[in-house]
Amino acid sequence: CGMVAIVGRPNVGKSTLLNRLLGQKVSITSRKPQTTRHRIMGIHTEGDSQIVFIDTPGLHMEEKRAINRLMNRAAASSIADVCMVIFVVDGLAWTADDEMVLNKLRRGAGERKTVLAVNKVDFIKDKEALFPHLETLQQKFAFDDIVPISAKNGTNVDRLLDMAKACLPESVHFFP
Ligand code: GDP
Repeated sequence: CGMVAIVGRPNVGKSTLLNRLLGQKVSITSRKPQTTRHRIMGIHTEGDSQIVFIDTPGLHMEEKRAINRLMNRAAASSIADVCMVIFVVDGLAWTADDEMVLNKLRRGAGERKTVLAVNKVDFIKDKEALFPHLETLQQKFAFDDIVPISAKNGTNVDRLLDMAKACLPESVHFFP
C-alpha cells in the first residue's frame, strides 16, 4: 500500500525521524511533548514510486485527560491504514510504560510489518548494555527488525527507508 506509520511515546523523536525520512522539514519538532496532535503526513518520492509516512501523535499511558485519549485514538487509527509500522523508542530513556505501549501497539499492528527503531543512539554511551535488552524485546514482540538509529544525524535511517520501499507494490509501467 506504500503507507508507513511512525508511532511511539511523546518526545522519542518521531517528528525528527519523519523529517529525516523525507529529507526536508515538514513536521514540527520540539522539546515540548504533545506538539503533534494530529496526523502529519509526508511523501517520499523516488522515481515513479511514493511512500507516504504518517507521523502520529505520541502515545500516552495516562488516559484520564481528554487530549491524551484523543491522541491515542489518532495514533491507533493511523495504524489501520498502513502496511508497515515503525515503533520509535528512546534508547536513552526506556521505561516500563514503553513496554506497555509496545504491547498495546504490537497487538494493533497484527500482521503488518513491524520494526523497532531505537532512537538517539548518537547519545548512548553504553551500547553493550542496550543490545542484550533489545534481544529480549525481539523475542517478546517478534518485530521484523530492530534498528538502532539516530534521527538527528541520520544513522541507519536509510535502513528504515529500504524496509519501507520493500513493502511497496510493484511499480506499474505503461508502455506506448
Ligand atoms: P516526538 O515528540 O516523538 O515527535 O519527538 P521530536 O522529534 O519532537 O524530538 C524530541 C526531542 O528529541 C527533540 O529535542 C529532538 O531534537 C530530540 N531528538 C530526536 N531525535 C534525536 C536523536 O537521534 N538524537 C538526539 N540526541 N536527540 C534527538
